[in-house]
Amino acid sequence: MLQQTRAETALRYYRRFLRRFPDVRALARAPETAVLAQWSGLGYYARARRLRRAARIVVNRLGGEIPKDPTLLQTLPGVGGSTAGAIASIAFGVPAPVLDGNVARVLSRLFGIGGSRRRAAVERRLWRVAETLLPERQSGDWNQGLMELGATLCLPRRPRCPACPIRQWCVAFRSRRTEELPASAPRPATVFERRAVVAVIDGGRVLLARSEGPLLAGLYEFPAVPLDESVGAARGLPASLRRLGVELRTPPVPIGVARHSIVNRRIESQIFRAVGHAARRGAKRRSPSGFRWVPLGRLARLPLSGLGLRIAGLLAEGQGQPLRRPDRPEGQGNSGGARRRTIEGVSPED
Ligand code: SF4
Repeated sequence: MLQQTRAETALRYYRRFLRRFPDVRALARAPETAVLAQWSGLGYYARARRLRRAARIVVNRLGGEIPKDPTLLQTLPGVGGSTAGAIASIAFGVPAPVLDGNVARVLSRLFGIGGSRRRAAVERRLWRVAETLLPERQSGDWNQGLMELGATLCLPRRPRCPACPIRQWCVAFRSRRTEELPASAPRPATVFERRAVVAVIDGGRVLLARSEGPLLAGLYEFPAVPLDESVGAARGLPASLRRLGVELRTPPVPIGVARHSIVNRRIESQIFRAVGHAARRGAKRRSPSGFRWVPLGRLARLPLSGLGLRIAGLLAEGQGQPLRRPDRPEGQGNSGGARRRTIEGVSPED
């Protein structure tokens, strides 16, 4: 959970996750849908899928024992060199270095190492430094100390050097190069998108699709269509939905707006509620291809993205009752989440 996510956010999910899956066997036994449901709103859903796959390998091939050896750890899905070092050193006391983003920034400034981490030579040098510094004993504490230093003092912008306990040895501080180091990789240009996301209700059911995209695979999504600015948001929707196989019975009603980021995309979603049904195909009405009708009461138990949670919360509020996710921490996945502007961020890694 801590890969790409701040500790205070991950902590809320972590406790709930451990209550639901208290050990590796429980996680290995669980269906992917159940694991994703516990991850709903945390983003980077590939992590949840990989974690479950890793648990299954540990149970089925490694006798249920999580390996202590960093090299063996790296054979598990989702475990790279830095995560392997963190698990080995913090959980098992095995001396192994960590080089996450925070540690790399500290080491780059401390030793004045320039150049992008994307260059193999720079990455090798940072790993060598991390290995050289690593103490034989209490390497887990050492690694956590470095990670904490990067997270709290050696910040990406405006590091808090006067409070830093290692400033006297820091090359970047002494040479006034803290803003230059480490070299940042060029960012792709930001792309803005606007779209309409529609909760189509038919009786007590709502229309959802199971996402197959690489970012949200396995999660349920509400139908989304690009906004046709030329005809106005709501007016273009019936025709767009008809192309998906849905006929609306009532005009779509706007119920909210959500903004979130995926890599370099800034997405604004105008959220609508409408009453509709599957379009006739031949003599019968069938669920539109790729979609299914789900009872509204089941929404709280499904794996949903942050945006999906927000819409589910709005629908529940519209019925006068906040969404109650089972075993969910306060302010998560109910109407409390509706105030968050940025719902979730997803990295290219996913
Ligand atoms: S002195 Fe400043 S730049 Fe150097 S490690 Fe400490 S916080 Fe980072």
